[in-house]
Amino acid sequence: MYRFTLGHAAITLINAGDIRADLRAWFGLPLAESQPSQDSVQPVAVPMQNVHIALGQASVLVDASRWASAPDSEFYLPGYSPPPTLATQLAAAGVVSGEITHVVITHAHFDHFNGLADPTDGDGKPCFPNARHYLSQADWESADIQSALHHPHSLTNRTLGMLHRRGSLALVNGDLGIADGIAILAAPGETPGHQIVRVQSEGKVLYCIGDLYHHPLEVERPDRQVWWADAKANRASRERIVSAALREDAFVIAAHIRGLGKLRQTADGVRWVTVDVATRQGT
Ligand SMILES: [Zn+2]
Repeated sequence: MYRFTLGHAAITLINAGDIRADLRAWFGLPLAESQPSQDSVQPVAVPMQNVHIALGQASVLVDASRWASAPDSEFYLPGYSPPPTLATQLAAAGVVSGEITHVVITHAHFDHFNGLADPTDGDGKPCFPNARHYLSQADWESADIQSALHHPHSLTNRTLGMLHRRGSLALVNGDLGIADGIAILAAPGETPGHQIVRVQSEGKVLYCIGDLYHHPLEVERPDRQVWWADAKANRASRERIVSAALREDAFVIAAHIRGLGKLRQTADGVRWVTVDVATRQGT
């Protein structure tokens, strides 16, 4: 867990657990680019980072992940012991799950929403029962999600479907302010409706960028994109957010890039730098 303040906002960054990322496969690189000298395109362990923002009356969670990699999964890391669950880590940070007001799901990939429901409850019980949950309409209407919703026992149906039936799921179109200083910004590409969160307080800005980037290599090499992204939409979203973040000297948190970062303009492009402004560091 990593905590810092951004103006009047208290930010808590929680890693719900590491997963294996086969970057060569993700970037669709030919084998020639996966030689041992190319460390950065070898399989690596990446975190699943969720962010809690406390600002004014708002208690906002960005993504809700649950570490549940089975040994036969491509995401499984042999010998890895996961950290305490998201709920346990939130409680340790003094955040009461029932008091969370907003949960923003950056996009409808399992590693960003599988922590929305209690897996021990057959019908799926919301982990954040009093929150309004925000997913893009484009992701909700995507063929993958709609077909998964037809299977009662699917993860999608027991999380997003359950929230929709309860009337707790707001479907977002474009940019949307959700609280004073906190806004959802559309950033399509990773999925049709991928969205990010912008926090502003006392002139300081933080972007929780979800999977706009998965690895610092993508920041330096704009031609590197995961094979499943809509390349044109992704490029446009990156250009919008990168230019804003550079102009605002903003902090940036990506779901799968460990810790807190900033973007830096270099002579030949843009680079990701890790920064440390923690006010208190726990487990
Ligand atoms: Zn992801």
